[in-house]
Amino acid sequence: MGYERERSEAITVARLAARLCQSVRKHMVDPGTLEKSDRSPVTVADFGSQALICRHLIETFGDPIVGEEDATDLRKAEGTDLLASVQGYLRDAGLEGTSKEVCDWIDHGNGQVADRYWTLDPIDGTKGFLRNDQYAVALALIEEGDLKVAVLACPALPVNDGVCLGTLMVAVRGQGTEMMPLEADTGESVVVDTSGNEASHRFVESVESGHGNQTLQAKIATAVDIHSPSLRMDSQAKYAAVARGDAVLYLRLPSPGSGRYAEKIWDHAAGALVVEEAGGTVTDMHGEPLDFASSERLHSNEGVVVSNGTIHNNVIDALKRLA
Ligand code: AMP
Ligand code: MG
Repeated sequence: MGYERERSEAITVARLAARLCQSVRKHMVDPGTLEKSDRSPVTVADFGSQALICRHLIETFGDPIVGEEDATDLRKAEGTDLLASVQGYLRDAGLEGTSKEVCDWIDHGNGQVADRYWTLDPIDGTKGFLRNDQYAVALALIEEGDLKVAVLACPALPVNDGVCLGTLMVAVRGQGTEMMPLEADTGESVVVDTSGNEASHRFVESVESGHGNQTLQAKIATAVDIHSPSLRMDSQAKYAAVARGDAVLYLRLPSPGSGRYAEKIWDHAAGALVVEEAGGTVTDMHGEPLDFASSERLHSNEGVVVSNGTIHNNVIDALKRLA
């Protein structure tokens, strides 16, 4: 089969990180936010999640990790409640570390794209996390630019039956996509919706209007006969929604206000494999494959289009006509 060890270690550590994030969200009135230079909120949970996952992966595999966070701001917070709080949540997760060790674990995530590397978004959708909406812990292994293993933990996404909160999506190249409750070891295979029942087709897009072009997204959806209003979700939970058939399309077209925004690999790698292994298709808005071989940004791609596969060409054609 292949990648058993990578799959199982990634599941274990993504679960631990998701629990840490849930614990932060439950216990903190103010989730300890700092302003990063791009003004996005970063929390105790982002740092804790990245520290936990990077330390585990470095000790287990030693591969480079390209993660979203770095510890520069946290090192400046030495002696403050923020750093102590990160240490406290890590302790609760079974990981005791000095402030220097914690910062060093986080900075293991400052690796470069290589022949084999992991990419990590310790909390994708931090804004959703802070608003009590969707967020994800997203981890993927890439070899020679090809996605091999992906784990997407979505602690606020109900499993299909709606009873149990917390969904884990796991994919290995060539082995399909599995969905399991966050706290259970058994799952089920999931596949995209190719029923062709257009009346039930929906599309997903970001909650944040600045992360896409919602006017154009609505036009493209209409052009491919999707007439229901969009499902708006934060984070790569959108990829989970396509993989399990809640939606047939996820559109992320460049926001008019963002200049030439190059997407970041950790915002897409795990989700992309989860959708592809569920039978779907992921490209940029010109139909080109996403480039995970070159850098931490998708410089050669523009926008992202994720679909059930069957409608993909129609979407790309609609983009050629209307974008
Ligand atoms: P979402 O929850 O899907 O809206 O996406 C959250 C991610 O959007 C964050 O992790 C950021 O890396 C990313 N992001 C920030 N600015 C932009 C932008 N202008 N266009 C697209 N994505 C962005
Ligand atoms: Mg992100």
